[in-house]
Amino acid sequence: MSPTHLDGAVLVVDDDHFQQELIGQQLRDIGWTDLLLADSGDAALQIYDAHRGRIRLVISDLSMPDMDGLVLMRHFAKRKLDAALILISGVSDEILNSAAGLASAHQLRLLGVLSKPNTPEMLAALVSKLNHQAFSRQTSSDASLSPERLRLALDNDEFVPWFQPKVNAQTCMPEAVEALARWPRSGGGMVGPGQFIPAIENAGMADALFYAMSRQVIAAMKKWRQQGIRLKAAINLSMDTALNLDMPEHLHTLVRDGGLQPRDFIIEVTESRLMVERSLAMESLTRLSLMGFTLSIDDFGTGYSSLVQLIDLPFRELKIDGSFVQRSSQEDKAKTILRISASLGKNLNMEVTAEGVETLEQLSYVRDCGCDTVQGYYFAAPMPFDACTQWLLAQTPAQ
Ligand code: C2E
Ligand code: CA
Ligand code: CA
Repeated sequence: MSPTHLDGAVLVVDDDHFQQELIGQQLRDIGWTDLLLADSGDAALQIYDAHRGRIRLVISDLSMPDMDGLVLMRHFAKRKLDAALILISGVSDEILNSAAGLASAHQLRLLGVLSKPNTPEMLAALVSKLNHQAFSRQTSSDASLSPERLRLALDNDEFVPWFQPKVNAQTCMPEAVEALARWPRSGGGMVGPGQFIPAIENAGMADALFYAMSRQVIAAMKKWRQQGIRLKAAINLSMDTALNLDMPEHLHTLVRDGGLQPRDFIIEVTESRLMVERSLAMESLTRLSLMGFTLSIDDFGTGYSSLVQLIDLPFRELKIDGSFVQRSSQEDKAKTILRISASLGKNLNMEVTAEGVETLEQLSYVRDCGCDTVQGYYFAAPMPFDACTQWLLAQTPAQ
């Protein structure tokens, strides 16, 4: 098993020169001679920036002064590291394991972890995995969803928000609208978010979509205010964007420049990914909440949150997944989950929303469970701006 047929260099990051040399020798012994050495995280990033594209594998120590391996991983994640990664450390296995969890939360391609002192065989076994992994990130087979096409669509502002009202469960008056992304096609069709959002996230363009949606939602709210319609707007946030530490300030600036306030906005984050990447997202989510944005846990019940996890996060709204609402008509279990979720949210002083309400029977049940707000086809489906304006004007008493 020789990696000599593989192109590319290995970047070895370790502040301990003896260890660096040892790994270097083990790599040369298995035939890998193109080595780049860094004795700190800063040096590693400089080398990576200068040689990116050529670096096939990064082997990094975890404990280093100044920038440790955890911080280095965060910087690599920002740069969308396209090399594979091996972590190595003299610390406990527990720490290595949680570092591995962090690497996968950062979506880094981790080949494995090594405890010091490692044997040449252990390193060779991890390196051999490289042969089985594709070098580049996967690209979509559908040409319309290629990164190039998506970039063009973002640059041309082709993605537009449709709006679905969220109404008060008791009065049935609209309190907010949720913005849901739509991609109109030239032939008159419409691509739904289920298709293009994963492609946008894979292409690393989630931030651009979030800002494009935010800008259009802000513009829509300004127009509604001119017509006397005052509502909050909910915007869906991809986990990729929640991990971006600059996002809160950027969003705040957009909102302020539009003459609006953070309290006019609800930011919805899907529960399943939230729990996987919770600690990483905590910083920007907490900052959003400090700025006054309302944070909402979307699709509640489909992930695996524990009570402890919920208590730690600054969420003020809990949205019970529509599948429970719809199944509640037939299944007692779904009914029970819905009731318990609503009561959990109420007991944590959260605003509870039921989504996907399609019938009067479902509305009565979610009301009975104590849900504060309701969303679903029973009231209105997502609509383009003009249709939503008509709908809102018909609901709102003249002022
Ligand atoms: P979501 O945030 O859970 O949005 C609710 C979905 O349920 C929407 O699907 C909505 O059209 C649909 N829906 C609303 N009422 C009913 C109902 O009564 N019955 C049924 N069966 N469905 C109902 P949509 O618009 O296709 O969006 C799918 C998902 O795509 C969203 O789920 C959200 O996770 C994601 N998404 C949409 N827009 C964006 C966006 O701008 N950014 C991000 N990151 N994700 C978005
Ligand atoms: Ca949502
Ligand atoms: Ca949802």
